[in-house]
Amino acid sequence: MARLVMKFGGTSVADLERIGNVARHVAREVRAGNEVAVVVSAMAGETDKLVQLCRAASVLHDAREYDTVVSAGEQVSAGLLAIVLQGMGVNARSWLGWQIAVSTDSAHGAARITDIRPDILLERLGQGQVAIIAGFQGLAPDNRITTLGRGGSDTSAVAVAAAIGAERCDIYTDVDGVYTTDPRIVPQAQRLAKVAFEEMLEMASLGSKVLQVRSVELAMVHGVRTFVRSSFDDPEAPQTGEGNQTVGTLICDEDEIVEKQLVTGIAYSKDEAKITLRRVEDKPGVAAAIFGPLADSGINVDMIVQNISEDGRATDITFTVTTADFERAMALIDELKSEVAMESVSGSSDVAKVSVIGIGMRSHAGVASQAFQALASRGINIQLITTSEIKISVLIDAAYTELAVRTLHSIYELDKT
Ligand code: ADP
Ligand code: ASP
Ligand code: MG
Repeated sequence: MARLVMKFGGTSVADLERIGNVARHVAREVRAGNEVAVVVSAMAGETDKLVQLCRAASVLHDAREYDTVVSAGEQVSAGLLAIVLQGMGVNARSWLGWQIAVSTDSAHGAARITDIRPDILLERLGQGQVAIIAGFQGLAPDNRITTLGRGGSDTSAVAVAAAIGAERCDIYTDVDGVYTTDPRIVPQAQRLAKVAFEEMLEMASLGSKVLQVRSVELAMVHGVRTFVRSSFDDPEAPQTGEGNQTVGTLICDEDEIVEKQLVTGIAYSKDEAKITLRRVEDKPGVAAAIFGPLADSGINVDMIVQNISEDGRATDITFTVTTADFERAMALIDELKSEVAMESVSGSSDVAKVSVIGIGMRSHAGVASQAFQALASRGINIQLITTSEIKISVLIDAAYTELAVRTLHSIYELDKT
């Protein structure tokens, strides 16, 4: 007997037929004698619809009311799954975020979970009742509903798993695991049997949207073994469990991975914009004068490149922000022109970031130069480069994203043979 968290994403609960399939997955685990907490997303497309409605109601809507609206999708799917399970004779009930005390901070639209009280859940699980929890939602200190950012049900699931001390958090989705790159772009991508927390964190934050970044952070901090698998599998098929490694991807501690690959995966993100400041006066405090106000406005700056000044008087600075922050960042820089002397400002959102990730890079040289050569041979110009111990990211013209991903995927021999 084990205590499990099972999370089902939007496509997995897209209609009543699929909810029925999800219920059979849950029933199987209950029959096996497990204590089961389920976390659900809204039915596919529902959250998008609710977001659109808020925007249509008012462009400058109140973030607290936005959360009240967009959290609603999960309430529907949680209730529906409970009804279907009850119809199958399984003891189940739904829980909204506030009912199990999912406390968050008050960053509406992108709140962070601060605490989940496990008592009530543990009591009901102990009585053999399945808990169906609405993902994506929580409660701010002032009692207002919050949401955790798009894709946030993954985070709800891992946080519940950590709170109730679950043996594993199973993330059921529309792919049968984590692949070497997005299988929608590269059909030759391969499913990975195991991925280290740290690699998954890089993959998620560099654009692999299979798991929300925050969920991987939480899994890493709390050591939650997270297993990504397909909800479209036959629920009644004999279960081999994560130990068998034929049905999904285990995100786990690096020590559990015997064969460490040099490169584990390729990620990409088109959610990038680049801003270049030309001939900025070159004196101490200039970088702080530019990036300080951006940070104060909550604009996240990612890659930064500053050239060595040729004449000691002026330098060029290029940096990237998300496309959502692009206009705001350009406006802010424009305001700064009165304080920081610069010749010109230009920006473009036609850029993409492509990244090569792998813990094996720590102990191997030459991974980066191989990537640069391969991109050059395809005529792809690299605009910016950043690296860490386990990743290399390049910024390129967005039109070449798919070509770059495919090229890098094949040179590190990640293609299926
Ligand atoms: P859910 O609705 O279940 O949360 P998501 O759409 O959020 O599902 O995440 C699953 C999707 O993530 C897949 O359909 C796939 O296209 C995409 N994806 C991106 N990168 C990867 C990757 N490296 N491995 C697997 N899936 C990936
Ligand atoms: N329904 C939310 C979204 O679409 C949360 C999730 O699916 O994880 O972003
Ligand atoms: Mg998701």
